[in-house]
Amino acid sequence: MGIIEKMRLDGKKGFITGAARGIGKCTAKAFAEAGADIAIVDLDIAEAEKTAKEIAGATGRKVIAIKCDVTSEADVQAMVDKVVAELGGLDFCHANAGICINVAADEMSYAQWKKNIDVNLNSVFLTDTIAGKYMLAHGGGSIINTASMSAHIVNVPQPQCAYNASKAGVIQLTKSLAIEWAKKGVRVNSISPGYIGTDLTLSSEFLKPLIAKWNELAPMGRLGKPEELESICVYLAGDTSTFTTGADFCLDGAFTCF
Ligand code: NAD
Repeated sequence: MGIIEKMRLDGKKGFITGAARGIGKCTAKAFAEAGADIAIVDLDIAEAEKTAKEIAGATGRKVIAIKCDVTSEADVQAMVDKVVAELGGLDFCHANAGICINVAADEMSYAQWKKNIDVNLNSVFLTDTIAGKYMLAHGGGSIINTASMSAHIVNVPQPQCAYNASKAGVIQLTKSLAIEWAKKGVRVNSISPGYIGTDLTLSSEFLKPLIAKWNELAPMGRLGKPEELESICVYLAGDTSTFTTGADFCLDGAFTCF
C-alpha cells in the first residue's frame, strides 16, 4: 500500500467541535474526503446541519450534526455518547471550538476572562478527557487540539491576554495528556495556526482593520487559508502518525520564527 493510501481514514469515526464554519468546517470536510464518518459539533445547530449536509453531499460519507456547548460537561458527555451510538465508535476527534475576546487587561472583567478560558481551555479538558476515556477503553485513538500561534507569541497590536493564556494552556494540556496516555494507545497533539482568514478574523469589525498590519508583520505577507491546515489534521487522525504524540505543529507561515 502506498503512502497516500495509508493516510486514508476509511472506516474511522470522529467528531470536530466548532465545525459549523471556519477551520473546523474545513478539517471536517478533509476527514470525510479521506474516508471517515464524522460529526459536526457546534453551538450553532442550524449552521452545523447545513455544513453536515454539504459535506455528506460532497463526500458520500455519513455526516451528522450535533448541538453542543463545549463548556458544558453534560453536553460534551451527551455528544460523545451520540457520536458513538450513531457512528458506531470513536477513533479521532478535533477539539477546535474557540473564541477571542479582544479587551485590554486593565479593562477586562473577570467574567470576560473566565468566559475566554472556559470556551478555549476548559472545553478542551472536557472534550479530550471524555473522548479520551472512551478511546482508552476501546482500543485507542487520536486527539487533535486547536491551539494557536498566540500560545507562542503575544499578538500585536490588539489586546487578547485571556486568549493567549488559554492557548498556551491548550499546548501544556496536550503534552500532559500525551504523556499520561502514551502507553495506552491514545495520542494527543495540537496545531498552532497563525492568522487564518475565517469569520473569527474577517467578520470582526474590531479585527478587520488590523489585517493590513498583520500582513505587514507576516513573513509571507498574507493570512493563511483554512485549507492550509487540512493535511496535518488528516495525518494526525490517521495511522501514519502512530509515533507522533505530544507535538504542537505551528502552521503560521513562519510568524513565530522571530
Ligand atoms: P470561527 O469563529 O469561524 O468558528 C468557530 C466555531 O466555534 C463557530 O462555528 C462557533 O459557533 C463555534 N463555537 C463557539 N463557541 C462554542 C461553544 N461554546 N460550543 C460549541 N461551539 C462553539 O473560528 P475559527 O477561525 O474557525 O477558529 C477555530 C479555532 O481555531 C479556534 O479555537 C480559534 O481560536 C483557533 N484559531 C483561529 C485562528 C484564526 O486566525 N482564525 C488562528 C489560530 C487559532
